[in-house]
Amino acid sequence: MPQRNASTRLKVNPFDSMVASVTEAAKTLKLSPNLLPILTSPERMVEVRVPLRHDDGTVSVYEGYRVQYSSARGPYKGGIRYHQNVDLDEVKALAGWMAWKCAVVDVPYGGGKGGIAIDPKPLSVGELERLTRTFTRRIAPFVGPHVDIPAPDVNTNSQTMAWFMDEYSRTTGQHDFGVITGKPLQLGGSLGRDTATAQGGAYVLLRHLAKQDRKAQGLTVAIQGFGNAGRHAATILEQAGLTIVAVSDSQGGIYNPKGLNLAHVGLAKDEHGSVTKYCGAQAVSNEALLGLEIDILIPAALEHQLTTTTAGTVKASIILELANGPTTPEADRMLEQNGTIVIPDILANAGGVTVSYFEWTQNISGHYWTAREVQDRLKERMEQSYEAIAQMAKEQTVSLRRAAYLVAVTRVAEALAQRGGL
Ligand code: GLU
Repeated sequence: MPQRNASTRLKVNPFDSMVASVTEAAKTLKLSPNLLPILTSPERMVEVRVPLRHDDGTVSVYEGYRVQYSSARGPYKGGIRYHQNVDLDEVKALAGWMAWKCAVVDVPYGGGKGGIAIDPKPLSVGELERLTRTFTRRIAPFVGPHVDIPAPDVNTNSQTMAWFMDEYSRTTGQHDFGVITGKPLQLGGSLGRDTATAQGGAYVLLRHLAKQDRKAQGLTVAIQGFGNAGRHAATILEQAGLTIVAVSDSQGGIYNPKGLNLAHVGLAKDEHGSVTKYCGAQAVSNEALLGLEIDILIPAALEHQLTTTTAGTVKASIILELANGPTTPEADRMLEQNGTIVIPDILANAGGVTVSYFEWTQNISGHYWTAREVQDRLKERMEQSYEAIAQMAKEQTVSLRRAAYLVAVTRVAEALAQRGGL
């Protein structure tokens, strides 16, 4: 089995972090103790072996997972990630976060997540395709447009989704566009899906700033991660008048207090493989980026970056969690005590699954929306969700994260109770 990197393994298990948030909400809500074990454990965990024939003819076998956390509110929904640190506990946590996230933005889904424990970076396109097709066949009996609907996540993209949809459709003998979201536009994808996670986070952040009577113009931002979420967030927030002063990827970060030239940062990433190849900024480590002198910090990479070690260094007044689970429960408490506002992952990054829901709706109905329709509906849903959570936070005098869990756990618990059959 691959080893989770030592710092994550020794410190906090992401599944325990997720369970802690749910348990606390269930206590506050005085839910029946009978519900807690259901709310804090996955309904089904599928573990598969994924053999891959490499281009040189050798075969390696990788561990793959699909965790189906909750179907109380609808089909399981959540991405598939390819990363060397993927393991069952991580996928269980990510699957749970999907269930709470879907409830926060009130899309009619439960939660799920999948992954393969592999570093996809050295793989050729052919190897990636074979890996994806084999994984699809392994989990095909457990997914479907009304059963479990995967999507992109770390190191997977619209091409991965196209292969998945094609392989799944071969197994069923019909065009099943609705089995997966985040597809290319030619294959049932939705306009606005590629930028949705970042755009949704921007709508929430801008609404939050407006509510505090703070001008967005000129606020400085550091973004950890330059993948699907982080990269689009940089562009969208710059267009909204904020100044992006630091970004990073797995190789390290760059910082210029006067602001980065994002077009050039993008070129460094695309042509030389890393933002660190950008000239015109000083180098900064992924850890040091979290403690920069900035207004807004956006973790947009992997879980558990803000720990008891790094949370104390944070100077930003707002953290927008575009990553899933970037903050450990203890770090969260520290940030709360320091007065840092954390816009929690299950709200901040829910734009992705929201437009996934729009994509699926378009697939099921066969009627496709304009970019304007997608943006208007995304904006409306993100702002309404933010307002509901801000209201709950005010009523209960709790943080936005605690408020988000109160809203989400209430919705899932109600669906469970209404279904009955326990
Ligand atoms: N992987 C994304 C997330 O963590 C999107 C999930 C989806 O669209 O189903 O929210």
